Amino acid sequence: MHYTKDDSANASTPVEFIFMGTGTSSCVPHVDCLTRPPEAEPCLTCLSTLTPEGKRNARRNTSAVVRLRSACSEDVTILIDCGKSFQSAAVEWFPKFGLRRIDAVLITHAHADAMNGLDDLRGWTLRGAIQLHIDLYVSMNTFKEVQRAFPYLISKEYASGGGDVPEFKWHIIEEGVPFEIGGTGVQITPFAVHHGRIFTPAPPVEMPITPHSLSPASTAASSPNVPGTPLHAEDLPTSSPADAIQPYLCFGFIIQDAITYISDVSHIPEHVWAMFKSRGKVPPVLVLDCLRILSHTSHLGIEDSVETARRMGAKRTYLLGFSHDLQHDDWVTITEAAGGENHEGSKLALIEKHGLHGLREGDPIWVRPAFDGLRVFVSGEGSVRDEGYSR
Ligand SMILES: [Zn+2]
Ligand SMILES: [Zn+2]
Repeated sequence: MHYTKDDSANASTPVEFIFMGTGTSSCVPHVDCLTRPPEAEPCLTCLSTLTPEGKRNARRNTSAVVRLRSACSEDVTILIDCGKSFQSAAVEWFPKFGLRRIDAVLITHAHADAMNGLDDLRGWTLRGAIQLHIDLYVSMNTFKEVQRAFPYLISKEYASGGGDVPEFKWHIIEEGVPFEIGGTGVQITPFAVHHGRIFTPAPPVEMPITPHSLSPASTAASSPNVPGTPLHAEDLPTSSPADAIQPYLCFGFIIQDAITYISDVSHIPEHVWAMFKSRGKVPPVLVLDCLRILSHTSHLGIEDSVETARRMGAKRTYLLGFSHDLQHDDWVTITEAAGGENHEGSKLALIEKHGLHGLREGDPIWVRPAFDGLRVFVSGEGSVRDEGYSR
């Protein structure tokens, strides 16, 4: 079930958020963990996914669906990221949650786990199966990466075989410039965070952009915040010259003042924090990257995730992007401790002790691990509930 027409009468903008995937780029389980010889050390996280009890340890690429109401009280369905595991996620969650039409796709960045499922959207548009086209919202850099990797998704003259390709309408969006999904009244604010670094300069990509493949309103747009843009001065390590380290930039999104979504991040620049502050109110839900206990070049570890959640101050923070290092229940134990629950004296696994040890002292905050298929509801008044956690 989802929000019905009746709900909109007493809630200005109810938002339903569905986690399509909550795992790292390689997904969980790993094939190598499932096929290890008996004498090798078993991976309990991956093996558990073969049992009903381990269902929450099975994690596809990070992705989400946001369903909310347009100004005319019509359902608006937004897909965030369409990576390698999109098709199997859609097969599982679209029928279960009554999803069908996709009004917009937002792509955070041009990694495979965020965009390599775009081809599967042909299932929506081929011969108008569900709709005639899908609107995609991406940075200029992501647009160029799609053009380089999958030219036929931009321009049909590159299609081959039977020519059965999806119908897209591309919209170029820029950091810090809010945009509206079609004429729905639904407002999205993109912002750029660091997601690791660029190891080699990208080769120039200068295939011609076919004018009809871009929406008229966006053809003149360009993004100054593409990989290759120098770091902001306050974010530079003092010992590194500006041209030595280039951050790879990834979009996060603020959706209708209800949800802040940051799926892939190693560092949030101060000017982005300033933008959050300038908005005056904190969206009640934060969705945030957490790969594992220790931080990583491209992702947050639990210590930085909890510190980021504290600084943001959302009512609820849901973590996603997990590797197979820990099981779901381990993450629950660790995040409960961030909320002030005392697990001392409990029988804890070594990995849980490591996770607890990594948390810094600070104000208690509500943080939990998301899992595939978890639904979160934000009322028009900003209250939050979900279908996974009773506390
Ligand atoms: Zn494993
Ligand atoms: Zn990535």
